[in-house]
Amino acid sequence: MRSQVELLVLYQDILLMLDEAKHEDKCMGIEVEGVEKLKKALEEVAKDIQQRYIRMFERLKTRYSHPLVPVQEDTCLGCFSKLPTSYHERGRNDEGIFTCENCGRLLYWIE
Ligand SMILES: [Zn+2]
Repeated sequence: MRSQVELLVLYQDILLMLDEAKHEDKCMGIEVEGVEKLKKALEEVAKDIQQRYIRMFERLKTRYSHPLVPVQEDTCLGCFSKLPTSYHERGRNDEGIFTCENCGRLLYWIE
């Protein structure tokens, strides 16, 4: 079973691919079949994500192209503000999803 964060990373990836596919549709005529496959994949991933995270994600999506951003060296890579050190361990231990206090984006930790 994947963690909520991993699922959200996937969710965002597929959404961005869908956006791209829709965009390319106008210029190059991408196969409709491909778009349908992406939509199906998105549904599958969304099923396993808690509703409240999807809602948070969708709300942030109206503001940012990437509502979910990585954290590196305790810095939110969305707005480049320093995160409280207490986030570090809790975030890595995967006890839930954290948001950046400065920009409100959802965070995930990379090694
Ligand atoms: Zn931030």
